[in-house]
Amino acid sequence: MQLISVAYGDGIGPEIMQSVLDIMQASGAKLKWEKVNIGESIYQQGIKTGIPDKAWESLIRTKVFLKAPITTPQGKGFRSLNVTIRKQLGLYANIRICRSYFPFISTKYPDMDLVIIRENEEDLYAGIEYQQTQDVVQCLKIISSSGSYRIVRFAYEYALSNQRKKITCFTKDNIMKKTDGLFRKVFEQIGEEYPSLEKEHWIIDIGAAKMACTPENFDVLVLPNLYGDILSDVAAQISGSVGMAGSANIGNQYAMFEAIHGSAPRRAGQNMANPSGLLQAAVMMLNYIGQNTPAEVIQNAWLKTLEDGLHTYDIYQKGVSHKQVSTKDFTQAVIQRLGKVPQKLKPAIYKETNKNIVSFNERKRHSSMKKTLVGVDVFIDDSQSSVEDIVNSIQAIDSGNLKLQSILSRGLDVWPNKPAHVLLSDHWQLRFLHSKKFEKIACKDI
Ligand code: NAD
Repeated sequence: MQLISVAYGDGIGPEIMQSVLDIMQASGAKLKWEKVNIGESIYQQGIKTGIPDKAWESLIRTKVFLKAPITTPQGKGFRSLNVTIRKQLGLYANIRICRSYFPFISTKYPDMDLVIIRENEEDLYAGIEYQQTQDVVQCLKIISSSGSYRIVRFAYEYALSNQRKKITCFTKDNIMKKTDGLFRKVFEQIGEEYPSLEKEHWIIDIGAAKMACTPENFDVLVLPNLYGDILSDVAAQISGSVGMAGSANIGNQYAMFEAIHGSAPRRAGQNMANPSGLLQAAVMMLNYIGQNTPAEVIQNAWLKTLEDGLHTYDIYQKGVSHKQVSTKDFTQAVIQRLGKVPQKLKPAIYKETNKNIVSFNERKRHSSMKKTLVGVDVFIDDSQSSVEDIVNSIQAIDSGNLKLQSILSRGLDVWPNKPAHVLLSDHWQLRFLHSKKFEKIACKDI
């Protein structure tokens, strides 16, 4: 028996969680669960993260968390519960399977079957933001080689163990040469160890356009955090309905599984919600804990229910669906079909030897890098002076071996090069270089 923590969530959460637990129980899954209280009611008690100590204690003890959606309160001061859990438990990999179920669920993309693997901890989500000047705020994009190795390795291993053929990486390394450049370099380096997989890289803008237009040409995608967040919603939406997809958040010791949709408060308590997204998350969870047989039995019963046209309101379509059903009726329909397989949709086969999801602890070891003092950047907040005023006052100061090399405003060169037009701001970045380094650079430039 595997013990897991379960949160019933807010809005439609309790209804869809009950449905999923009933289906898992009927499938013969060897599970015990304990309930944790998180979310709206906890925020209202003044706990800013929405997670009380008792819930943390359970998550850390059971290590596996099945979570229904929660309602995020409006207003300042509340922290995102999801981001807090991901960071505290080191859930570095986010996996979303986006598949179409044509002709039973309406979609423009009948052959879509892709998996998005999103880095979950770094990038612009590191939450490092500064008010630099009155005019300028800044958010730091953090990409580490350790973090990139870990997620990219995870993605390649996931592709192999799930019999996927191709892996695609999207970055914007033509602009962000260091950060996105590192992610791409790691993707290409690790790729050499996986000769059986087809590999490709696209600049994110054209890559996103291709994914939205011809998703059937993609298989597994690995992306830095922000791109992954945006594109996984696009992919889930175009596959049919946000109510149909689940996601896994995986770390080395802990894992959390949830539907991708929110708590849909307007549908709460009406016995109408579609439990499929949370059920898909539960299937990922069963595979993760090695219970492949009940995972397979549930998935095939669910596919058969979709095929038989028993659809909740969000996916019901006249002429395609057989009957519009409630949450409870849908649950019973899946339970009645446990042991059956779909006739037209591809049946699920989850092998005991192939865990659906793997986790890695790969830390990039750096050979000792030679570090030399090259210079220093000084930021100035000044809305009164012109660039010439700033240069004159700085050059009047003896800055020793450090010489003023250039001035940038909001990342744009304004001295000694002058742009044709510059938006006036109070943000100045003065780059001083060590005189020896400066001579070298000056010589090279000439
Ligand atoms: P939502 O996903 O709750 O709803 C969007 C639309 O999809 C609504 O029309 C809703 O009725 C429909 N829908 C969603 N899931 C459905 C289902 N299972 N069955 C049938 N219809 C479904 O998004 P929202 O309205 O923007 O957010 C509502 C609340 O959920 C907010 O407080 C938000 O912060 C929270 N939220 C939580 C999570 C999470 O806990 N992981 C994720 C997203 C949003």
